[in-house]
Amino acid sequence: MLWPIDPARFVSEFQKTGEVDEDEALYFTFIGDDLLSISEHGIPRPVTGDEFRWLDLEVRFKHYLGTLDRKACYALAAKGAVPEGFAATPLRGWLGRVEPELFYLAGRAKQIIEFDRDNRYCGRCGSMMDEQVEDRAMRCENCAFVVYPRLSPSIIVLIRNGDEMLLARNAAWPTGMFSTLAGFVEPGESIEQTVHREVREEVGLDVTNLRYLGSQSWPFPNSLMLGFHCDYLGGEIVCQDQEIAEARWFKWNEMPNVPGGTAISRWLINEFIDEKEAAAKAAAGS
Ligand SMILES: [Zn+2]
Repeated sequence: MLWPIDPARFVSEFQKTGEVDEDEALYFTFIGDDLLSISEHGIPRPVTGDEFRWLDLEVRFKHYLGTLDRKACYALAAKGAVPEGFAATPLRGWLGRVEPELFYLAGRAKQIIEFDRDNRYCGRCGSMMDEQVEDRAMRCENCAFVVYPRLSPSIIVLIRNGDEMLLARNAAWPTGMFSTLAGFVEPGESIEQTVHREVREEVGLDVTNLRYLGSQSWPFPNSLMLGFHCDYLGGEIVCQDQEIAEARWFKWNEMPNVPGGTAISRWLINEFIDEKEAAAKAAAGS
């Protein structure tokens, strides 16, 4: 299944609305592009407010994110050497190693830190930007231009045809590694249009009967992946030059190498396999 997030555990806020214990707060701290962590039984976790206080790190930006299990959560950009006993690693290293809530919160922190870092100056007039008071945005006092954190919606889609699914190998991937098709939404486009356009551009096929299955925040750097299944309608496979090296139909029980379980592509693939496996079992049993 797709990594779940428990809405009862995390409450999103951009300003503190109640009393919080600052000592036990979770500090999602980035030094450059790396996330500061401490290991407990080999599993990384963010540092606490109490731990951070003793570190020789200079805080550049600090943003409140809300509460996880009533603990305050902050995104920090810090400067300085990684202290002894701590580690600083890319966020990808947390994938599949920490509980989903911590991974997605660290991803949220990363995107807000990058948003702050990349919007110190107004893109319209070049003046300094300030944090907007009423919500999470940067505002230019000179020309009133307002910038919100950037999200890049994209679609990811598994094409089905009877017992087979279409998987493709990106030109940048190693031989033997296949996944579902994916692409960014263009301005003015609906999500459904994006699915039809991307499938046509990447493999030259027409599809129908789109079903939305779920979404995933993917903070590398700021994607929101919207996952679909759809059915093959017509056309012959023609791979897009430079982008797609190979695209093939795979039977549900004859899988190539595919991405790991924390990626939405794997979840879309597993949903198809589970359904076909259940149908095969039911047919064998009847
Ligand atoms: Zn401006």
